[in-house]
Amino acid sequence: MQMLHPCRGSIQQYEQELSEPDRYRPDRCPLCHAPDPLRAHGFYCRTLVDVQYDGSIRVRRYLCLLCRRTVSLLPEFVLPYLRFAIPVIGLFLVARLLDRRTLRAAAEAAFEPSMPYQRGQFWVRRFQQQAMALCAALAGLTAVVPARDFLTQALQMLAAIGWIPAHRFLFAALRMHLLGWPGFLLPHGSRVNLSLRPASC
Ligand SMILES: [Zn+2]
Repeated sequence: MQMLHPCRGSIQQYEQELSEPDRYRPDRCPLCHAPDPLRAHGFYCRTLVDVQYDGSIRVRRYLCLLCRRTVSLLPEFVLPYLRFAIPVIGLFLVARLLDRRTLRAAAEAAFEPSMPYQRGQFWVRRFQQQAMALCAALAGLTAVVPARDFLTQALQMLAAIGWIPAHRFLFAALRMHLLGWPGFLLPHGSRVNLSLRPASC
């Protein structure tokens, strides 16, 4: 299960904080809810592209001594299952959908001038599908300003709250993915149990 590492600094600060395994250790297992069963259990690496960063980062993992399942702490500037960090995606979506720039100009605004246009279209498509749900979920955090459509309203609300604070709330409180969970996962980010899936037609 993924939880958020409460790092509010840079990637470099995040990496430094990883050397202190107990500093952000959750005091309960989020899966079996037992108190104090989590122990540091190494790291896994994931790739990350952020503004002025293209590399890989380590993600801290804990093992629950009771239920034997693992919990990982993702830094809050990344989204599960996406290589690009929230600031890059946010800059692109605002430029493309709010400022109505071309795909190329939006990629330049996101500091990714040479990225394939299909990547931007993929983010746009997922955000469009998620916009109405985002408006409803974020209504408790900021005033709802009338807008011509849910897409514009969601972007305005994210601008008012901040993309990363909004993600922090959506993920931690609602288990909601800013761009919607990928299709192979259940709505709350759990893996689909293949044996329970109905036969496809
Ligand atoms: Zn547990």
